[in-house]
Amino acid sequence: MIYIDASAGEGGGQVLRSSLSLSLLTGTPITLTGIRGRRPKPGLMRQHLTCVQAAEAIAPGSRVQGAELGSQQLCFVPAPVQPGNYRFEIATAGSCLLVLQTVWLPLALGGGASELELSGGTHNPMAPPFPFIEQAFAPLLARLGAPAELELQRAGFYPAGGGRLRVRIQPAAPLQPFDLVDPGALITRRAQAVAPGLPRSIAERKLRTLADLLDWPIEDLEVAACRQNEGPGNALWARLEHEALTELFCAFGEKGRTGEDVAREVAREVRRHQQTGAALGPQLADQWLLPLALAVTQTGKGATFTASEWTEHARTNAGLIERFLPVVMHVTREAGNAVRVELQPQAPEPEFAP
Ligand code: ATP
Repeated sequence: MIYIDASAGEGGGQVLRSSLSLSLLTGTPITLTGIRGRRPKPGLMRQHLTCVQAAEAIAPGSRVQGAELGSQQLCFVPAPVQPGNYRFEIATAGSCLLVLQTVWLPLALGGGASELELSGGTHNPMAPPFPFIEQAFAPLLARLGAPAELELQRAGFYPAGGGRLRVRIQPAAPLQPFDLVDPGALITRRAQAVAPGLPRSIAERKLRTLADLLDWPIEDLEVAACRQNEGPGNALWARLEHEALTELFCAFGEKGRTGEDVAREVAREVRRHQQTGAALGPQLADQWLLPLALAVTQTGKGATFTASEWTEHARTNAGLIERFLPVVMHVTREAGNAVRVELQPQAPEPEFAP
């Protein structure tokens, strides 16, 4: 049993999701206290509760205590994972990509194919939006040995939700860690804006502002296709496709926020990232830790990446992963806020002859 004070460090929902994934992957029972203790409304919200239910569903026979809305304590004793067909619904606009991330690797490494249907939010602020998972995160997982196909059937924006996606997870090959130190040359860059249920001019204005701020030509801009009944909602993202990986920076419009302000946020994030020359952006870095640590553990081979920022999310996730897996992470500062992160398999404990 691993006891986790989920209010330590970042103290949000990621501690819960990573703990559930690691519990399923290693077969380790967990007890969490202080769940989302650093959030204004602590405890399990709909999205987090669905993550717990999803973890329980893919490992039939698991034992769970404390799986209730608002609960700040959870005990989870995992049974073996059974790949298969599953459907997870979040009645609110809670992010279904975060539910997906909870069960993705346990299913991929479970020895069979799975097909998931998820519904809820697909384009949420403060969570990985669908384009980020599809274009930045999933290709890296596939390269590690865990491929999946993702299909967005309906976009669901905060606060309405109602999005739907289908994911086919292939059984993973033996995972192979790799370095991501240098992003390599920039191959393409593209800014896309969507604004379902709103005038097209809203998306166009954001794109024009972003292009001015970043000095991008008009050919790199696009109003992305969407159905009018998927709104109201609006988002803007910039994709940087490099030789080694693709990064994507996204921001959302909301009532009372100007399109110019949304564009300024995306431009700031792109510039901040590009100035460092690091491979991974701040969010991809915290999400990359778990899959990479698994690959390092499975092969006994180390791997290194650079990130344009080492956030509290990343720090907290790194500490949590080290409690479950025999892996050690060394973080060294580079120029600015950038970091170099080295993951090494932990040397086995020396055996002493009696
Ligand atoms: P809460 O903070 O209310 O507990 P939560 O469950 O969403 O909510 P967090 O612990 O904040 O949990 O985790 C959010 C996750 O979403 C992190 O992995 C973070 O990297 C990711 N994320 C947030 N914004 C983006 C973004 N714009 N692009 C990609 N990923 C993002």
